[in-house]
Amino acid sequence: MRFYLATANKHKADEYNQIFSEVGMEVALFPNYEAPIEDGMSFEENAEIKAVALSKQCNDFVLADDSGLEVAILHGEPGIFSARYAGNSSTNELNNKLLLQNMFGKSYRSARFVCAIALARAGQLIGTFRGECKGTIAQAPKGNNGFGYDSLFLVSPNMTMAELSPEEKNNISHRRNAADRVIAFLQEVSKNG
Ligand code: IMP
Repeated sequence: MRFYLATANKHKADEYNQIFSEVGMEVALFPNYEAPIEDGMSFEENAEIKAVALSKQCNDFVLADDSGLEVAILHGEPGIFSARYAGNSSTNELNNKLLLQNMFGKSYRSARFVCAIALARAGQLIGTFRGECKGTIAQAPKGNNGFGYDSLFLVSPNMTMAELSPEEKNNISHRRNAADRVIAFLQEVSKNG
């Protein structure tokens, strides 16, 4: 089975390639992909907007991912604005810097990564699947792997997500948990004909 992935984020694409190839599914980037305006109010709504929009342009199944970081003491920020936390043309570095500033002096540092995957075909939404990964926000960045907020996200007391190998991240990530639900759904559908 083959899907188009509604993303221009190479990191997400690499992670999905590895996860889905383990079960013999292939994900491909759509050539010259242009993201629609993501004006949903939740990760799920934004994933649905992206999946449905691209599925109108091709005949294949489409998967779209909307994901981000929610920090409890910041009332769920940066949430759906994770990519542009420090402004519309922000960078990972600026987002991380702002997050550390906003966490200054805070001892309660619980957070979670959230991923919503929407599956669509021919302009119709088929389903939406959520995955989460719990952790805490570090006092300073550590590690060089991954992307986004990985270097600030402690998966255990002394280890950030950016210190994990790609395989280790893929075993525990929000993306893995959401993708496992997609895979279970598709296996159930194909079993029932
Ligand atoms: P999206 O492309 O609109 O879904 O925005 C995703 C943003 O959330 C990224 O730019 C990162 O800032 C953050 N994010 C999502 N997934 C991850 C992850 O696996 N690690 C680190 N940051 C992530």
